[in-house]
Amino acid sequence: MRDFSYFRASSVDEARNAVLQAGGALLAGGTTLLDLAKCGVDEPETVVDITHLSGLGEINVDASSAVIGALARMGDVADHPQIRAAFPAVAESLSLAASAQLRNMATIGGNLLQRTRCPYFRDPVTFPACNKRNPGSGCSAIGGVTRNHAVLGTSDACIATYPGDLAVALVAFDAFVDLGSRKVAVDDFFLLPGDTPENETVLKRGEMIVGIGIPASAAARNSTYLKVRDRQSYEFAAASAAVGVELEADGKTVRNIRVALGGVATKPWRARAVEQALIGKAFDVETVEKASGLAMEGAVSHGGNRYKIELAPRVVARAILKMAQNVGGLA
Ligand code: FAD
Ligand code: SF4
Repeated sequence: MRDFSYFRASSVDEARNAVLQAGGALLAGGTTLLDLAKCGVDEPETVVDITHLSGLGEINVDASSAVIGALARMGDVADHPQIRAAFPAVAESLSLAASAQLRNMATIGGNLLQRTRCPYFRDPVTFPACNKRNPGSGCSAIGGVTRNHAVLGTSDACIATYPGDLAVALVAFDAFVDLGSRKVAVDDFFLLPGDTPENETVLKRGEMIVGIGIPASAAARNSTYLKVRDRQSYEFAAASAAVGVELEADGKTVRNIRVALGGVATKPWRARAVEQALIGKAFDVETVEKASGLAMEGAVSHGGNRYKIELAPRVVARAILKMAQNVGGLA
């Protein structure tokens, strides 16, 4: 890790201006930034500390929405009684992420902007070829060990999985990222790798996340986050699903359903084909399992990650059936 200078910002504008300088990087909880600095992926010249900015740590929930400041801690959002009641999938996505120590330190803004766990990306010395780290250098993962790589949204340039959990729950419920001067839907905030995997979000230099907003809905209230992983804690998703459901007044026809996947795609992945296949239908095991298969439309495997194409629809089906049962709509 090379030397860097430290600047403690006292306002959002000061932070934005400081990070515009060449080599400037914002520091929130630091649980991603310092990791990446140590392994030589991020080499900031100036670390701009935003942890003391006032007003960015608040969590406000009312009947219409939740508004969460960028500096709110993962653990505080996960444990917030109103978030747990109105947005269970959001709370669960956070409480199933990382470890208690990390959740006490890490922030919502930093969580959204965490980088891929692709081992080739995180080891620049052994694997110089990585289009995300060094555009045009190639991809060491393609043809390599791909057990944790993505099967959806990949390109010939990059197959890295977006590793976060929270963004998966957010994309399911039409949440937005507040950048101060503009608000961007979470679905539009994250970019597919295409030919430019180095561009992961629409965030421009000098912009910072000031918060997120999540519209309240019956589907968000009747929701869950199911995460399947190699061990029961402190592990990223092999496949995960955020699901929310709302039934018609008859208590069996699906009025609204939200489905998003994590651990299998290059960005938080909304499974609209699954949603469309279930709206207007009644839940039964066969219908749900058939619809869940649509989550893998367009999936491409690279050998070691082939199991995800079988696993992910099962995770989606399990999450939908759990919620169908919870709302009393399972035939
Ligand atoms: P920082 O490290 O401070 O920042 C991360 C990045 O975001 C940096 O580039 C920084 O410049 C930028 N940034 C920070 N705040 C802002 C802002 N407001 N505006 C613009 N840019 C900003 N995550 C999961 O979702 N699920 C897991 O299972 C999981 N497991 C983990 C296990 C381990 C061992 C570790 C180390 C991490 C794990 N994580 C997991 C990731 C963890 O959640 C993130 O490291 C954390 O959320 C990042 O938040 P932070 O505040 O520490 O960000
Ligand atoms: Fe780099 Fe993406 Fe290839 Fe991983 S999958 S080595 S991040 S280009």
